[in-house]
Amino acid sequence: MHHRFAITGTATILLFASCFCLAPSSSAQGQETAATDAPRRVVKSDREWAKQLTHAQYLVTRLKYTEPAFSGKYLNSHSKGTYNCVCCGAPLFSSRTKFHSGTGWPSFYQPLDEKFVATAPDHEMAEPRVEVTCSTCGAHLGHVFPDGPPPTGLRFCVNSLALKFSPASASAAKPKAKATHAAKPKSTAHKATK
Ligand SMILES: [Zn+2]
Repeated sequence: MHHRFAITGTATILLFASCFCLAPSSSAQGQETAATDAPRRVVKSDREWAKQLTHAQYLVTRLKYTEPAFSGKYLNSHSKGTYNCVCCGAPLFSSRTKFHSGTGWPSFYQPLDEKFVATAPDHEMAEPRVEVTCSTCGAHLGHVFPDGPPPTGLRFCVNSLALKFSPASASAAKPKAKATHAAKPKSTAHKATK
């Protein structure tokens, strides 16, 4: 699916936001996330979040601060895996859709699964932007802009402090371990039939 976005200022951003919401989820390449669970809601008090998170993580995710450009630990990360919400662990972005934007923040052209990521107009700055949040716990993640690469043309500009990376090997090993556990050992090939 290709969406074309005419660059005409404010209206564009809102238009593009609605396009994004309506975009079909056929592209959900959910290997890391089986399309099992609908997003549960995680609700905690400010005090609980402050206790669970580092001060910097709290400022970004709960108070919508932005980490300084080029300061985030995932900016230049090329490891394969999933970027989860630092607050609630929801799977947000895959390393497969990460790209180098040159902006100073980790950038992705697509969420791992749209159901875990929400967008909303943000009028805090003179130029309106579209905020990106975790739909499970409401954490502020960053913003999305219509200047990303194909196939979506979107750039999810995300704070490293809002993310927790889970390497592909670790996330793939868990379900496999379960599956192979039930597999019969070779030595049982001893058939009790005649
Ligand atoms: Zn979350």
